[in-house]
Formats: sequence, C-alpha cells, structure tokens
Amino acid sequence: MLNLVIFGPPGAGKGTQSQKLIDKYQLVHISTGDLFRAHIQEQTGLGKKVSQLIADGQLVPDAITIAMLEEEADKNKDARGFIFDGFPRTVPQAEALDAFLKSKGTAITGVIALDVDQEELSRRIAERKKLTNRVDDDADKLKKRIDEYFNKTIHVLPYYEAQGKLTRVNGIGDIDQIFAELTAVIDSY
Ligand code: ADP
Repeated sequence: MLNLVIFGPPGAGKGTQSQKLIDKYQLVHISTGDLFRAHIQEQTGLGKKVSQLIADGQLVPDAITIAMLEEEADKNKDARGFIFDGFPRTVPQAEALDAFLKSKGTAITGVIALDVDQEELSRRIAERKKLTNRVDDDADKLKKRIDEYFNKTIHVLPYYEAQGKLTRVNGIGDIDQIFAELTAVIDSY
C-alpha cells in the first residue's frame, strides 16, 4: 500500500494537492476536517459534539478524532492506499495511526510537509473565505487555528523525522509545479 500523510498549516494547500494525488495514484482521501464538516452538516451526534470546538478553531479531542478516522479507513478495505489530510495533528494521533496501520499489516510510507509562511497563509484563507464561508475562517478563529498548528501540530514533524519518513516541499508557487515536486518525492519511495 501507499499510505501518505500530507501535512501543513491551515491554508497550505493540502486539500488541493490531495485531490490531484488521489487522481494520479488512485488513493482514498481521508480528510478529518471534511469528515467533521460532513457530520456537522448532517447533524449527527458526533457533529453536534464537535461543532462548537471547530467553529472556535480548537482541536477536537484525540479519542473522538482517532475513532472517526479508523471507522472511515475500515470502510475502505480494498484501498490501494490512503492520503491522510489534517490527520495526525498531535503525537498521540500519530502513534494511534501507526498502531492502527500496523494492525492491518501496513504502515505510513511517507509524510510530505508543505511549507508556507504565515503571511501567505493569511492571504490564501482570506481568499478562501470569500468562496466557502467557513465559520472557522474568520480572522480570530483563523488565528486560533494557526496557533494550534504551531503549538501542537508542529510536534508531529519530529515524530516522523525520527522515523526517516519526512520530506518538506515548498508550498508556495504554481499548483502544478508543487504537484510535480510531490510526485517526484512519491515516485522515489
Ligand atoms: P485546515 O484548513 O485548518 O487545515 P481542516 O479542514 O483540516 O482545516 O480542519 C478544520 C477543523 O477540524 C480544525 O480546526 C479542527 O477543529 C478540526 N480537526 C480536523 N482534523 C483534526 C484532527 N486531526 N484533530 C483534531 N481536530 C481536528
């Protein structure tokens, strides 16, 4: 299996690049942010539990997030591989993902981090807000999400670096150019 983690701060382009990667490599895309938004939209029990946290730009507790992710992965038993997008966001999530994949006889192949500076992130999310109207794209909520990223999520990088699985790619520039860099990394695995 080809199991990738696409990693980066809010607005780094994870969703855009994931879409192109699933088309090219026929992978199943698991975006925890998309899954949570679907639960909220459908007003499920889980959706009701997490909607305020998400609207506020806070992380959802690990236990909830991990259970949701595993359930989604188990729905795709025939997958050739997965792209995990927005997950793991904490070291316990990364550990849980390793244990889960190991129990299925597989593992993370590689982690690609999209590097984008804060100024560019703010600019992109302001643009996105005009199109999607995500409540968590408001300026103060966005600041909270970027803080969560730099306080908590960034610690996931050394976890994968220690396993020799991390590659950083410049996330600023032409979408197709960035995609070409990603595919070069993946094709070298
Ligand atoms: P972003 O554009 O900020 O990367 P996402 O769509 O990935 O946003 O996630 C939106 C929100 O969903 C996050 O701010 C957080 O509240 C929640 N969320 C998504 N993934 C996770 C996760 N792995 N752990 C905890 N909370 C998460």
